[in-house]
Amino acid sequence: MDFLRPASWEEALAAKAEHPTAVPIAGGTDVMVEINFDHRRPEYLLDLNRIELLREWEVGEENVRLGASVPYTEIMEHLRAELPGLALASHTVASPQIRNRGGVGGNLGTASPAGDAHPALLAAGAEVEVESVRGSRFIPIDAFYTGVKRNALQPDELIKTVHIKKADGPQQYSKVGTRNAMVIAVCAFGLALHPETRTVRTGIGSAAPTPVRAKEAEEFLNAALEEGGFWESGKIITPSIAKQFAELASGACNPIDDVRGTAKYRRHAVGIMARRTLGWTWEQYRGTGRTLEGAA
Ligand SMILES: Cc1cc2nc3c(=O)[nH]c(=O)nc-3n(C[C@H](O)[C@H](O)[C@H](O)COP(=O)(O)OP(=O)(O)OC[C@H]3O[C@@H](n4cnc5c(N)ncnc54)[C@H](O)[C@@H]3O)c2cc1C
Repeated sequence: MDFLRPASWEEALAAKAEHPTAVPIAGGTDVMVEINFDHRRPEYLLDLNRIELLREWEVGEENVRLGASVPYTEIMEHLRAELPGLALASHTVASPQIRNRGGVGGNLGTASPAGDAHPALLAAGAEVEVESVRGSRFIPIDAFYTGVKRNALQPDELIKTVHIKKADGPQQYSKVGTRNAMVIAVCAFGLALHPETRTVRTGIGSAAPTPVRAKEAEEFLNAALEEGGFWESGKIITPSIAKQFAELASGACNPIDDVRGTAKYRRHAVGIMARRTLGWTWEQYRGTGRTLEGAA
């Protein structure tokens, strides 16, 4: 196995173009597990750790530009206000050691349906900036996941930056696991309120072949909140609306039975998490959240 150690982004892109089968390694918390278990024996490893720009982030007017290798710990420490859903999701990843190494670029690279960043990215609204020697392109997060552990990257492309909408309202993330740390999600749910556009976005993890949004549930809730004047009044969401939202979120799942849980349990748990995260975010909105710009 050859180890390629580019010193710059341009060198990394050139190396990937020359060796499209080279496996990029950032934190290595997925790659090294696969190599150690002999699930993967790549001819080339492409080490991205000398590339500073992948570890940088920038808070802009509307978006956060998150370098692919920014570790979860830094998201939790520095971007909690701008990316509350992703910060909460980061908090649930593994252990401090893994959170110090692993990042969102690696989570996207692996594209496991159980990856914790995905529901938060889907709910917040994100675009993945990928680049090759041919140029760069932006992939909307909804189009990024193409199958079980498959993503929209071409063989010569690398993930450079994830552009994530800054929170304009409360966000929550909920994860079911067999314990509180070092656990892969049995299933997970992310919810973001967007008072500026009076919309709600969701993300479901580990309950379908890919991370997905509960689009019907979103559409139902958007209409119910608008028709009932909830955004203006901030009144409590009626139990029947919350119940219907939960049922539709549950219906968006297409899970399997596996060692972590049954399909039936996953559907049920996603419904519960949808109802709870809606309750939590709406309570926040009724309090501090409603003073945000755009919320009447
Ligand atoms: C003990 C343990 C517990 C874990 N628990 C969790 C958990 O609770 N939740 C969770 O979501 N994950 C968990 N993971 C998985 C892992 O930590 C995450 O998926 C993490 O985000 C991977 O990031 P990384 O930088 O280490 O990726 P790496 O292992 O370096 O790479 C992962 C994949 O992404 C590709 N890649 C990396 N960077 C790029 C790039 N810039 N462009 C293109 N491709 C790239 C690699 O080639 C590889 O295919 C756990 C892992 C371990 C070992």
